[in-house]
Amino acid sequence: MTVTSSVQWRMGIQTRSSSFKGMSLTVTPPAHSPFSTQVPRSLLFVAPFWYCCPAMHRVKVAVVGAGVVGLSTAVVIAEALPHCSVTVLADRFTPNTTSDGAAGILFASQFPDVPVEQQRRWFKRTFDHLLLIASSPEAGVAGVFLSSGWQIFREVPPEKKPYWSDCVLSFGTMTDAELKRFPQYKFGQAFTTIKCECPSYLPWLQKRLEKAGGIMIHEKVTDLAELGLRYDVIVNCSGLGSRELLGDEDVHPVRGQVLRVHAPWLQHFVRVADGHTYIYPGAGGVTLGGTRQAADSQAIFERCRRLEPSLGSARPLGEWVGLRPGRRNPRVERGHVRVHGRRVPVVHNYGHGGWGITLSWGTALDALDLVRQCLNERPPEARL
Ligand code: FAD
Repeated sequence: MTVTSSVQWRMGIQTRSSSFKGMSLTVTPPAHSPFSTQVPRSLLFVAPFWYCCPAMHRVKVAVVGAGVVGLSTAVVIAEALPHCSVTVLADRFTPNTTSDGAAGILFASQFPDVPVEQQRRWFKRTFDHLLLIASSPEAGVAGVFLSSGWQIFREVPPEKKPYWSDCVLSFGTMTDAELKRFPQYKFGQAFTTIKCECPSYLPWLQKRLEKAGGIMIHEKVTDLAELGLRYDVIVNCSGLGSRELLGDEDVHPVRGQVLRVHAPWLQHFVRVADGHTYIYPGAGGVTLGGTRQAADSQAIFERCRRLEPSLGSARPLGEWVGLRPGRRNPRVERGHVRVHGRRVPVVHNYGHGGWGITLSWGTALDALDLVRQCLNERPPEARL
């Protein structure tokens, strides 16, 4: 690999300063693994000639963002499109992204304007992908586990089943005996979902990306058009950063706060349906939440202790505050930037609000389809 002296390597991530020259890359084909999203090589015969001839032109794809959405998207592209070189550019990597602090439970409320079938597909594809990991020896290192528990309601809800009820495992109504533990609540759902702990999962994704030939560069992107000078396709997974990068004022910060406590006797999750109070046991402690605006740790702790009195004996481990990339609906669609009269395709994948982990793999696969569409429509024009 040829890299100018201004690029330094730090734990597999390049730190880029202003003078950067192109690099020649040897890209390792992705290893065959049960997790691989690689397309069968036979399928490449139906692709246009330039598309399957890496020696002629390796398509350069830039993915902006290294949270759970950016890394998932980079992995699926790098594995499915081996003729592309995939570079992740981000100003924050794990453990410093919003994704790192999330409770990481697979659960979602419904976005208002996205067809429910599409949301269900996003959820199911993420669930199935993570279930495969949770059922493998990789589970511990990837921080992905099955998690069983209850969602409780003060009043019986009009919709007794969420749209994802058949995506999770063993979904059902809580029995009277189960509900008895929560005397203030009249209705409950019992199910097994997944807890995905990003401080382990993101490094695992980074390794998987490197195995598929992807690289990571530490860089703040200030102008997508400038990226278009260096890359053939841009994939924007910058989360809340899209507000500044694109001027998208629909994206807004939604503050969230969680505590972690040591309470290893707690094994079941409990979530109050309004989302303001939850107890999620995990590998390195129990996550207590949460807030969707300002609040303090003491208030969260008291609400959770009212649900689960044994928390009175729990030892505090830490607290964390983060800003969700709130948006009325996630944006998963195509656009473009103009670079000296040339249209460079952009695929957007951001604005997942409080459900970015839950929908990460599903939206990444939709973004992959959009990248494929861009590539099938026409070969990348010569870069200037
Ligand atoms: P981020 O993780 O914020 O990553 C954005 C990336 O883009 C970063 O790498 C950043 O550096 C980069 N970036 C931005 N702008 C630029 C730029 N201009 N140039 C270069 N790089 C840029 N979700 C769930 O599914 N389940 C949960 O249980 C859950 N619990 C949560 C609890 C709390 C308290 C909070 C705050 C959130 C929770 N979430 C949960 C939501 C989840 O954290 C987010 O939806 C998710 O992290 C969004 O991922 P992302 O990759 O889009 O954004």
